[in-house]
Amino acid sequence: MLYDYIVIGAGIIGSCVARELSRYDVKTLVLEKENDVANIQSLANSAIVHSGHNPEPGSLKARLSVWGNKLYEQMENELGIPLLRSGAFVVAHNEKEELELEKLALLAKINGVPEFTIIDSEEARLTEPNLAKSVFKVLSLPTTKVTYPWEVAFAAMEVAIKNGVEFIKNAKVTAIEKTDEYFVVTVNNKDLYLAKNLINAAGVASDDIAKMIEKKVPYQIKGRKGEYFVLDKRVKGFVNHILYPLPTELGKGVLITPQYHGEILLGPNSVEVEDKYRPTTSFAGLNYVKEHASLLADNIPFNQIIRSFAGIRSTSTYDDFYIKESLEVKGFYHLGGIDSPGLTSCFAIAKYLLEEVIEIQDKFELKKKFNPYRARRIRFHQLSKEEKQVLIAKEPLYGNIICKCEKITEKEILDAMHGVLGSNTIKGIKKRTRAGAGLCQGGYCEEKIIKMIAKEFKLSPLEISYDSEETKIFVQETKVKQ
Ligand SMILES: Cc1cc2nc3c(=O)[nH]c(=O)nc-3n(C[C@H](O)[C@H](O)[C@H](O)COP(=O)(O)OP(=O)(O)OC[C@H]3O[C@@H](n4cnc5c(N)ncnc54)[C@H](O)[C@@H]3O)c2cc1C
Repeated sequence: MLYDYIVIGAGIIGSCVARELSRYDVKTLVLEKENDVANIQSLANSAIVHSGHNPEPGSLKARLSVWGNKLYEQMENELGIPLLRSGAFVVAHNEKEELELEKLALLAKINGVPEFTIIDSEEARLTEPNLAKSVFKVLSLPTTKVTYPWEVAFAAMEVAIKNGVEFIKNAKVTAIEKTDEYFVVTVNNKDLYLAKNLINAAGVASDDIAKMIEKKVPYQIKGRKGEYFVLDKRVKGFVNHILYPLPTELGKGVLITPQYHGEILLGPNSVEVEDKYRPTTSFAGLNYVKEHASLLADNIPFNQIIRSFAGIRSTSTYDDFYIKESLEVKGFYHLGGIDSPGLTSCFAIAKYLLEEVIEIQDKFELKKKFNPYRARRIRFHQLSKEEKQVLIAKEPLYGNIICKCEKITEKEILDAMHGVLGSNTIKGIKKRTRAGAGLCQGGYCEEKIIKMIAKEFKLSPLEISYDSEETKIFVQETKVKQ
């Protein structure tokens, strides 16, 4: 089969591009090296839909983040994705910093952020009582919000697949060649796929993918690691807004971010790393996070930390998103250097690439039967008592709680195993349902979920993985009944 477009990478960007492509009468294939959608950068970030207040005016980051922020309002219903309209406060500690805050407000104005205002700390404390005593003034950004990044990627990819896009996971692109007419893409060193056009949405690997086909890649990815602590959702309400420090040349700084499901993130730091493929946490990095978060709020409940994690940003030497057709190879499209605010901009990036770079509307017809909608995932614990009773009467498996910390039911876990983007791994189920994401981090429910996967997919527990094939949960049986 000769595809019109092959998209390399199913992070949030590849998924949104696939969804946008599925509006048109084109044959599209998405190749993803991981065992799931959104497993790398799109897995480990702050989940913030920024207002667009801090990118350099005139940059693509400025334009696409302000546009992207607005598109989230539309996508909330269309794709059934979570949005927490928290708003954000950028804090200044003294008069010198207040001047920086005013410059930031000016940037917000130039970039077209629809609402922002500088307020006194007393006013800010009415809604943020734990704001650090040292805070003097605050830039309030009410359009800043929080989403649930994996759900955004799943939703976009599900719509793409339902509208005809093909998706192959565990498919690592290992070589690319170009004939006069099409690209030949080698996957896992053996399988070949052909396409007229290639879209490179490979995140931190985007320069390495480009090297397979270009002699001179116009940017280099310099991975920047960000480390985090997660505070248990018992601290929900400790902060209501996202708290930002003033930005520096390293980025937006260490933040305190309330999450959609109640937990609170502290972080990230920003450290350039040698190995952009290994997001590991470090003692020094996490200590830095603690120290800097303490400049934003007093009495942070560090005793409620339930885990730490790290993500690596695909920061590039180009200093902006690099979204262009290759200068060397026609039909090869770069989505390079999509670091922050990539999550914010994802829907706008997909539209910009297709409509303004590829100009797809001049080349292909829109599908007559494109369906943009995807039903919101049922979150049983968020329903009212009456709604719960109705659901249990229809489907008794909603009455059996498997994950006690997050209150996830047997039916939700079964649903996550099946459907368009079903999963039979522990991490896949956790990403879809949050089973194992709470206080005990799967200590209670993991065994039950392993048994459910084994039953549903007729597998031996020895065959069940945490994530990829290489991460089997069990090595061997130790006590075999004779
Ligand atoms: C610490 C941190 C905090 C952030 N916070 C925010 C935030 O709050 N708000 C915001 O807007 N943005 C934020 N970002 C940025 C945002 O997360 C990224 O811009 C976004 O996730 C990029 O998505 P992506 O699809 O380009 O990359 P990825 O999610 O990394 O996807 C790329 C995909 O390509 C696949 N791939 C790579 N090589 C191959 C290959 N050879 N063959 C097949 N597939 C391949 C990978 O497996 C991966 O799934 C943050 C990033 C980090 C790291």
